Amino acid sequence: MSLDTHPDAGLPHERIDALRQRVRGVVLEPDDDGYDEARTIWNAMIDRAPALVVQCAGTADVVAAVEFARETDSELSVHGGGHNVSGNAVSDGGVMIDLSPMDGVHADPEARTVRAGGGALLGDIDHETQLFGLATALGVVSETGAAGLTLNGGYGHLSREYGLAADNLRSVDVVTADGEVRTASEDRHADLFWAVRGGGGNFGVVTSLEYDLHEVGPEVSRLFVWYHADEASDRLAAFREWTASAPRTAAVLPFLAHVPDEEPFPEASWGEPSLVFFGCVRGDPDAVDDVVGPLTDGEPIADFSGRTRFEELQALLDEDYPDGLRYYWKSLYLDELTDEVVDLLVRYNERAPSDLSTVDCWWLGGAVADVAPEATAFWHREEPFMLNFEANWIDPDADDENVAWVREGFAAAEELPVSGGRYGNFPGFADDPAHLLFGGNYERLVDVKTRYDPENLFRLNQNVAPGGAE
Ligand SMILES: Cc1cc2nc3c(=O)[nH]c(=O)nc-3n(C[C@H](O)[C@H](O)[C@H](O)COP(=O)(O)OP(=O)(O)OC[C@H]3O[C@@H](n4cnc5c(N)ncnc54)[C@H](O)[C@@H]3O)c2cc1C
Repeated sequence: MSLDTHPDAGLPHERIDALRQRVRGVVLEPDDDGYDEARTIWNAMIDRAPALVVQCAGTADVVAAVEFARETDSELSVHGGGHNVSGNAVSDGGVMIDLSPMDGVHADPEARTVRAGGGALLGDIDHETQLFGLATALGVVSETGAAGLTLNGGYGHLSREYGLAADNLRSVDVVTADGEVRTASEDRHADLFWAVRGGGGNFGVVTSLEYDLHEVGPEVSRLFVWYHADEASDRLAAFREWTASAPRTAAVLPFLAHVPDEEPFPEASWGEPSLVFFGCVRGDPDAVDDVVGPLTDGEPIADFSGRTRFEELQALLDEDYPDGLRYYWKSLYLDELTDEVVDLLVRYNERAPSDLSTVDCWWLGGAVADVAPEATAFWHREEPFMLNFEANWIDPDADDENVAWVREGFAAAEELPVSGGRYGNFPGFADDPAHLLFGGNYERLVDVKTRYDPENLFRLNQNVAPGGAE
């Protein structure tokens, strides 16, 4: 019997119909209502048309979609929150597993844990946990997908005290390439649990994540102060000195930017290159000025620091990263924040083709570095800083110059003796070899990959090929 095939994708209609019968969620083909919305992700640089989108209502749907992709030999992509800049959530002609409907969150304040579905966003989790004055360590923008962020590590305001998002995992449920549902934790499928904490989406579809919770807020102190970039060298030198003894309850992320052309920024400063200290300080509100004092003396362009609800702080930057803008971000680690690095930050910020772009200097260390690099798949724990070139722009005709700006800045940073490695959550178009992310953990990841995904079904990621294949 010959199977009736889809004209574009070559997928057998009978198989698609059978999949529709099997799932409770929605199976979308290119002509279906909702298909375009489903295939469109945050980064407008990515415009891809999968043959099929499976919007999964639960784990059983994920199993059906994984089996379908495997049996039809389709390229499989996994959409958590759709916010990875590389666009690996979607592929041309492939099968996209869309976990957006699986965004349920259940906080257990007594056990101090929270369980989130594989499509939950950071804001979904913070909203439920802050009800109890609790939080887990996630990122700094509420619309980011928790699964994608966590599987590749995950830095945020709480990392220096509570570690990476991945370090806060107690267990995950994973649908592996064979269609089995496995719960992985320290004492169940420990090899898989080791691998998903930093190894990205290589090992299966994570349908549920269980995290530890900590007392946070509900109020914290926000640091958000803007200075002229001509003060950047002195201020970043002071910042470097300050990081040597600053408490773990203080998180500060300096970035170079341009002053937005809008109120409440003073009009005279609009468009000027600037240095911003953005962060969160917890603990006694009366002690905050003393804690951040060395960073904030003198006259700023603008200062939006003050008390805020933690949940609001987590959403403060959301509006700077709307869906539908064009984005290209790339990162590498720094052993030191040298004068040369600072000079490079300032120079590349000045020449950014788009005023929406930034050059960020993440301050890491603390609890992230307390964990040994071999303890989980996440290797780059000892470097105290990470540089991220963020090109953010509107005009499609400006794609080339914005991508070139990142690549040139990145190449210049790579030349510095203090730089190295890669971070999987800011990966450009995922164009660098995976061993740069995984360092000394790479071979062990290959072993786990070979065990759980020998055919490399999950390959749209920072791919660890099974059996060490190219
Ligand atoms: C505005 C913005 C702010 C950010 N802020 C931070 C930050 O503060 N800290 C930080 O560390 N990072 C940050 N990031 C980076 C972010 O962590 C990554 O982009 C992350 O990959 C996003 O996850 P996602 O689920 O939204 O992405 P998606 O594009 O949906 O997924 C990315 C990849 O992750 C894998 N994946 C996702 N979900 C699953 C799943 N359930 N099971 C298996 N594999 C899965 C897949 O391989 C997929 O290709 C930010 C990104 C953006 C866009």
